[in-house]
Amino acid sequence: MILFINFKKAYAEIKEEIQKAIERVFERQWFILGEELEKFEKEFSDYNGLKYGIGVNSGSDALYLAVLASGISKGDEIITISHTMTSTVDAIVRSGAKPVFVDIDPMTYTMDPLKIEEKITMRTKAIMLVHLYGNPTDMDPILELSVKYNLLIIEDACQAHGAEYKGKKVGSIGDIGCFSFYPTKNLGAYGDAGMIVTNNEELALKFKLYRNYGQRKRYYHNFIGINSRLDEIQAAILRVKLKYLDNWNNKRRKNANLYDELLEESNVITPIEKEYAKHIYHLYVIRSKNRDKLKDYLDKHEIQTYIHYPIPVHQSKAYLEYKKIYKLPVTERICNEILSLPMHPWLTKEEIESISELIQQFLTTN
Ligand SMILES: *Cc1c(COP(=O)(O)O)cnc(C)c1O
Repeated sequence: MILFINFKKAYAEIKEEIQKAIERVFERQWFILGEELEKFEKEFSDYNGLKYGIGVNSGSDALYLAVLASGISKGDEIITISHTMTSTVDAIVRSGAKPVFVDIDPMTYTMDPLKIEEKITMRTKAIMLVHLYGNPTDMDPILELSVKYNLLIIEDACQAHGAEYKGKKVGSIGDIGCFSFYPTKNLGAYGDAGMIVTNNEELALKFKLYRNYGQRKRYYHNFIGINSRLDEIQAAILRVKLKYLDNWNNKRRKNANLYDELLEESNVITPIEKEYAKHIYHLYVIRSKNRDKLKDYLDKHEIQTYIHYPIPVHQSKAYLEYKKIYKLPVTERICNEILSLPMHPWLTKEEIESISELIQQFLTTN
């Protein structure tokens, strides 16, 4: 069986350090908003070249608070994509604002910058883009629009820790970057966690208040916030793992290169890394017209694969109202063709070879 992600191998590599970190928190007996979080916030914002990091409960909350604390609400519109995890869009809707979908680029599967301007109205307040699969969105045209129309840029970097656009870390390019440390992410906790990063001091202060019941001082509430904090145990764990992130991302990139090479002659479409991008392959996603059969074939040979994502957000049951309004041809086509192959830093050359061979085998008989 070749697993999609191998958590046990990851843990084996860092077990002692992780246990020490957890023990440190237990000895201190301080679990919420303490030293570990403060240090991790500093370390992670430094890593991204930014001044502020605000630890929250999840990537979903990071996105939600980004919208909420920016003062975006009912009547406002946020431009986003439908080919993403539902949390991106949920964050917009939870705040009362309306998501406005644009299609994706057929090569990179990220927001198509050429499709944005026609969707901008008087109500547009922000653009929420997603560096999906760990592949950076083309940011320059989006930054130009943000200046021209005075729009806030929120980056959903939940799958893209360490990915770069023109040498800059994604999440640090727009106004607000949102990260998830869900266990499967390139930087993953042993539970739920997330972070908002920014250089905007005023916003940073707001995020801090909003994540902690809207209180400036204990029991003095300026507005209605939520409870969304990154706890000390997860912060201590993430501090250990952050030191390995670049090394692990490089291993993913090597694995991706090997897949690319071995699948080059086949008629599946492999991921693309544009000249502006450093892709960190949170997911290695191929495309095939025969996707469902290919997936069954790999299942039968005990290769674990997934589809990210089978149903575009605007066509999901939760968002039925948008299904009729929107036609997003690229988004709607590729969700029937995409397949995520096993990808993690501990995948071996032999495993990648046998997966690639199976794919070739399937293709010659189908
Ligand atoms: C994982 C993810 C989220 C949500 O993060 P959670 O920590 O699971 O809430 C949001 N957007 C994208 C693109 C993600 O991959």
